[in-house]
Amino acid sequence: MKYQTICTACGTGFQDDSRLAELCPICNDDRQFIPLAGQRWTSSSALKENHCNKITQLNERLYTIKTEPEFAIGQRCFLVTSPKGNVLWDCISLLDEQTVDFIRSKGGLSAIAFSHPHFYTTMNQWASVFDCPVYIHHSDKKFVSYKTDAIRFWEGDSLVLWDDICIVHTGGHFPGSCMLSVKGLSLEGTMLCGDSLYISRSRRHTAVMFSYPNQIMLPKADFHAFYYKVIKLKFDTLHGASFDGQSLLGNAYPIFMDSMEQYLENYGIAAVEPLKKSLSKAQTDILTVNKI
Ligand SMILES: [Zn+2]
Ligand SMILES: [Zn+2]
Repeated sequence: MKYQTICTACGTGFQDDSRLAELCPICNDDRQFIPLAGQRWTSSSALKENHCNKITQLNERLYTIKTEPEFAIGQRCFLVTSPKGNVLWDCISLLDEQTVDFIRSKGGLSAIAFSHPHFYTTMNQWASVFDCPVYIHHSDKKFVSYKTDAIRFWEGDSLVLWDDICIVHTGGHFPGSCMLSVKGLSLEGTMLCGDSLYISRSRRHTAVMFSYPNQIMLPKADFHAFYYKVIKLKFDTLHGASFDGQSLLGNAYPIFMDSMEQYLENYGIAAVEPLKKSLSKAQTDILTVNKI
């Protein structure tokens, strides 16, 4: 499966070239933007001619995959290896032979899961090559332009995949925004957070917004719902997906909490004292747990 129409600004692939006369709906959404130079398209084969993927090992079970030279938003995706099956967290537009060979050498993919639509890119191509399902929260259904049998929409607060891997719904940036919890990647647990929680360039702050490039705040109620969910999670490490090195290793929770306190103050929301006091006990899991 090849994509004839890939938006050069966000990397989203569309399966028919009738889109060429239109604006990319992901870029035309208020969370992104149409570049000053206007709408531009490329294709899978054109992209492959002058780009390749760089794979970096972050730890024993975790790799990043990123296209060079930088393409679209500059996304990176993650390969999480695990005894019962590997998971690709988010996607990028370019799937070249070297990437396919590398992932196959690690045992292939048992699932692809998403933080949000800014990473859908060429997901149907990845799912077809690796013959695996794609898990997307049902609240983001309307952002999926081409629904294949591989795509499984799930509902609820969390979806346990296998081993120590669980998709957690947070909402916020998108209604269906999620993070991937992988407990065994660090002492207190690791979250692959996409843009659901945005780690700042200084790595001293985390943000949650409706739009990062257009700097649009979340409505208060959406922020409140996000805060309630994420404060209950247990983690010490975060890996974001927007630039190389967008990670907080071991110190993520206090940085997250400091940032949230600033948000609470600015939104005029009282901190959740009972939750804060009993975090070590209550910070365990999510409200409702689904299993595949
Ligand atoms: Zn686009
Ligand atoms: Zn985003």
